[in-house]
Order: sequence, then C-alpha cells, then structure tokens
Amino acid sequence: MADLFGMTGKIARVDLTTETVTVIEPEEEIYRKFLGGTALGAYFLFKEGIYDPNLDPLGPDNLLQFLVGPVTGAAPNSRVVVVTKSAYNIYCGSTCGGHFGSELKMAGWDGIQVVGKASKPVYLAVMDDVIEIRDAGHVWGKDVEEAEMILKGEVLAELESREGMIRDADLNPTWAAMRPPKRLGMHAKRLAHVMCIGRGGENQVWYSCVNTEGARAAGRWGGGAVMGSKNLKAVVVRGTKGHKVADKKTFLAMENVIKSSEATDSFWRAYGTAGIGASSAYVEDAFPIRNWQFGSWADPSTKAITGPFMDEASFIRRQSCFGCNLKCLSTVEVTSTDPMLDGTLSDLPDWEAMGMVGGNLGYMEMEGQTPDQPFTGTSADQAENLAKLQYTAFLHDNYSLDFIEGGNNIGLVMELVQRGFIDSTDLDGIDLKWGDVHAVDELMTKIITRDGIGDKLAQGTYETGRYFAELKGKPEIMDYVMTCHHYGQPAHDVRSPADKNAMEYVTVNRACAHTGGGGGGFKSGDWAAAIAGQNGTCATNSLVHCSFAAGHWAGSQLDIIKAATGWDDFTAEDVQAVGAREYALTRLFEVHIRQLTDPKEEWDKQSPHRWFNDPLPTGIHKGAIAYEGNADNLYDVALPAYWKERGWTEDKGIPTLETLKSLGIDDIAGDIASQHL
Ligand code: SF4
Repeated sequence: MADLFGMTGKIARVDLTTETVTVIEPEEEIYRKFLGGTALGAYFLFKEGIYDPNLDPLGPDNLLQFLVGPVTGAAPNSRVVVVTKSAYNIYCGSTCGGHFGSELKMAGWDGIQVVGKASKPVYLAVMDDVIEIRDAGHVWGKDVEEAEMILKGEVLAELESREGMIRDADLNPTWAAMRPPKRLGMHAKRLAHVMCIGRGGENQVWYSCVNTEGARAAGRWGGGAVMGSKNLKAVVVRGTKGHKVADKKTFLAMENVIKSSEATDSFWRAYGTAGIGASSAYVEDAFPIRNWQFGSWADPSTKAITGPFMDEASFIRRQSCFGCNLKCLSTVEVTSTDPMLDGTLSDLPDWEAMGMVGGNLGYMEMEGQTPDQPFTGTSADQAENLAKLQYTAFLHDNYSLDFIEGGNNIGLVMELVQRGFIDSTDLDGIDLKWGDVHAVDELMTKIITRDGIGDKLAQGTYETGRYFAELKGKPEIMDYVMTCHHYGQPAHDVRSPADKNAMEYVTVNRACAHTGGGGGGFKSGDWAAAIAGQNGTCATNSLVHCSFAAGHWAGSQLDIIKAATGWDDFTAEDVQAVGAREYALTRLFEVHIRQLTDPKEEWDKQSPHRWFNDPLPTGIHKGAIAYEGNADNLYDVALPAYWKERGWTEDKGIPTLETLKSLGIDDIAGDIASQHL
C-alpha cells in the first residue's frame, strides 16, 4: 500500500473467542470514500453483514468498533466513535470526547474492531503495536472511575517500560512511594487512556455507554451493553508514535486558525452547553420537565439553575478534550446538606444532563409544588436541587449509562405513578415521586444489577412503556413514552417553534440524535440545505472531530483534510458524499434488520404521541404543538420530499440503485436495497 497520511492504514481486529489479534489494512479508496469514524464504521457493518436480522446484537457475532479519523490526534477537538449494532436493533454511531481517540492514533491505529466473546472478563491493553488481551477479573464489578484509575496504572508503552535509571534509594520516601507500579521507570506516568464500562455495561443494560475520563462518554445507543456482552471491561491505550500529516505547514496554519477562532468564543468557553441552556431553551419553552409534561415553569425564578449559578456553586477545574480551545468541560464538587450527595465529584453538568436528569425528574421545583405554580424556595434550595441533578448525572456516568435515555426511562415511570397507572407495588416497594433523588438512586441500583423491576427497566424507555402497558392492560400508557425510533428524546422539544423541528428527529440516521445537523433547513423546508447539514455532521464524525466546534472549522475543514491526507483533488462534494454514504447505509441497515415492508408506517412514525397531541401548557409558546399538530403533513408530504431529495424512493425511503451506484456503494448495499425497493 502507498504511504498514507492522516490515517495510519491499520485497524486492529481482536477476536475474543479465539484470543487472536490480526491487522486489517483498508485500501486508500476506502478511506477516500468513508474517511474514518462513523462512516467507516457503517461501511464495515455492511461489509460484514451485521445487518442480518438474526444476528443478536448482544451475541458474539456482533462487531464492536472504536474508530478515529484522519485529523484525530493532530487537529483540535479530537474525539473517538463507537460503532456497532445496538441492543435496540438500531445503528449505534456514538461520538466521545476526551483523549482516548488521539491516544489510539498515537499508538498507530485507525481503529480497533472487536468480535467474539471472552470466556471471562478481559481488557485490551494497547501499547503502540502491541495488543494484549488481559484478565479483568480484578476490575469487573467496579464502576467507571475506580476501574479507569486502576487500569491506567497497568498499561505502559514499550518506551516507558524500560528499567528506570533512578533507584528508589535515590528518592525521598514520598517520591519513591509515588513511583508507578512495578517500578517501571520515572517516565511511566499514568498516561494511558481508557474506555471502559461500569456495572451498567457489564450487566448489559441496553442504554449502557462507554466512558472515558469518568464523565466523557460514547453516550448513546448502547455501545456499553455490546461491550459487556463480550465480557470486555475496557480498552486501555498508550501511544507514543505521533501523527503523520502530508503538509505539516498548512496543517499547523489551519490548526492555528481554528484554535484562534475558538479562543474568541467566550460564551462557549464559559459554561459549554449549560450556557446555551441558560440563554435559550429555558426561554424557548423547550426544557424537559416531568417527562416533558412541561417545557418551562410558570415562575421565572425557577430558572435559577444556569451555567453561572452552577459554576459558582460547585466549580473546581476546567477540562477539555484533546487539543480543544473551547474547553467546555468542568469538574465540580457537589455541596449538599444531604450526606448521600455531598462531596460527589461530578460534571458541571452539560445541558442534556440539566434537562434529562434534572428538570425531567422533577428536581427543580420545591417538594409538593408543580411547574405551573410560583416557586416558593430560596437560592439555597436551588443549590440543593442542583446537587440532586449533579449526583444523578454522576450515577449515570459512573455506571456507564446514557443519561438521556435514562432520564426518559425514569421520567416515564414517575409519570405513570403520578397518573395512577402504577404504584410502589409495581416497583419492588420503591415510592417513586417527582424530585425524590433517593428513590431514583434505589431504582438505578436495581436497573444496573437487573434486580426485580430493574431487569424490565434495563431495556430502556420504549420497552418499559410496553411492559407496563401489557401488565396493566392499558395501551394508553404508550402515549407517555418519549422516544423516537424507540430511543429517548434529548433535551430539545419539538413543540416549541424556537427549538428543534420534528423532521430532525424523524430523519436523523442515529435514532433521535440531537446533534444530527440541518436544523435551519428543516425549519424552512429547504431539504437540500437540511441534507447538506446532516451530511456535514457525518463528515465531522468521520474525520473525527467535535461537532460543537463545527462553526470554528467551517472555513478550514476542507483545507485541513487536504493537508492531513495529501488528497489535493478532494472537494467539498467529496466531503458531502461521505455523509450521503453513511445515511444510505444506515437507512438500509435499520430497514433490513427489522425486515420492514412499509418502513413509513412500521418505523418512521415511531415518534412520541405527545408531540402532536399535548400542547405546551406554559410559557411564551403556550399551546404550541409539533408540526402545528399536522402529523400527516410531516409524514405524507415533508418526509417523501426529503427522501426524494436524497435520491431515495418517495414511498419507502429506500436508496435507489442509481443513488447507491453514484455513491460507489452499490457493491456492498445493492443486494440489500433490491430486497426492499
Ligand atoms: S467543545 Fe467541549 S466536548 Fe467538544 S472537543 Fe472541546 S472540550 Fe470537548
């Protein structure tokens, strides 16, 4: 193979059943078509037939991939993606911040693919070219933060393993005691980066994620459950090789442009997405409150929990992902009069956590108060409410659970209790009321250990709704399930005209993702613009860098791709085609897995009843409803028009053979498409 730049040209393939490690070397043409990350992951899902409806997502034949892209590890805002077939029988293409992705690239890999199932718990130790399958018995049963710290100390690159020149006797006792394990040299700091699962993943909770640095996560669609099904506790990487780009001078110049632009972004740098929450969603009536019964509070003083408020109450230290100048992450320490919460180290948190495990669980009102009543508490009471949401976010991170799906799941159960459909006898005696963090704590323990009712709830919001609907003989329970394509809705309502358009959630290729792109196009009905936005997001997730920084990359992305890879003939159209390929493949993936004969009726309409039937009860958009209440207009007019613009059939949304051919993927997807056209 010709020398590659940007990419290393190597993907490690680990078979946990046979305990073998091999190396895949994709042709350069594959990188040009898919770049890396999510699009490359979708390509391998297809190439290996993971779309087979009989292939159990939690069985040994599923393919679990950790992938990076051509700019990861050199450009700012580096991330990693986890791509697999989800336990929900949907596509999982989840991105994760932190430093793992850059470390993987530094170790010389574009990705790691895992198949099979280990006979006992194991972890992968990746030390540059060397990959070992190691026993993980000592960390199995431990949650993310503890397991991560232990494993960091066990993996060192070859360079760092050489016998140190300095003896213990040369050091004072304090320094000698701080030496790394096995006395492997003064340079052997705990530099490895870890992606691991907590008990949620070990016990295959469907919405378990894969975490790094405690609170960073490939959060959505259940990659952690797949990892647990393989008895794989963690992947630990230490890389020392560096990154080879084609045109270093231009690359560095572009990097400087991006970083300089980020440095001016005081809004984002101050509070990250929590800042956005304070300034927009509260006033847009798009905040999830009590399982989305409300989008805002009647009393503005309830809106006190904002980025600045949280910062003052709990900030310890700013953090960032590799090379990022936005630095939107903050470690905080919870302060509370409740000993269960007090002293917890958590995240600021971000906007999604504020909504999904804050407002959605009824944490932000005073006890006995409803969101349409005046707020009767003080600032100190708000600080206690903040502590509850920070603690619940911490639990989700430490157990490796997606707090968006988790917040929907528990919020649904709380609403079913509120409406009298179920009571504590259905919840193993737990008295689950809005705002009760102790009851949430108890229920979450049951979920991650799959104990009693926790075993039912471990299959996520949609299945929780189905379980109680059948148990009680009340199909109307499904009216309160807030999922789109069976996965929980993020903290952006589609009823408020100021937030997301319902078409965004209906069409995005990663079930109910809030980061799919194309928002402006969906609002104006400009399908070409919407599709360009979606394709652009796929390209971002395939490069792989952070979509939060997309605005700062806008003028530099193509130049930095060229500088990294040396593909001087690469065009903006080629960047768009990466996303178009990912969309076509993932659409076929989900249609085929479910063997849909009428995808629109059987799948695309799987959205929350509340969108079109429960108008917002409070706020400046009081009375608003999704798509002005006209679901038929969305599904029978807008959706076919969007599909047509993509080159898919208008009746079923299947990519045509001509479209697949023009994208150069008819060889891997033509047969499957033909079965559904
Ligand atoms: S913007 Fe935030 S999430 Fe994105 S790379 Fe920077 S620190 Fe990480």
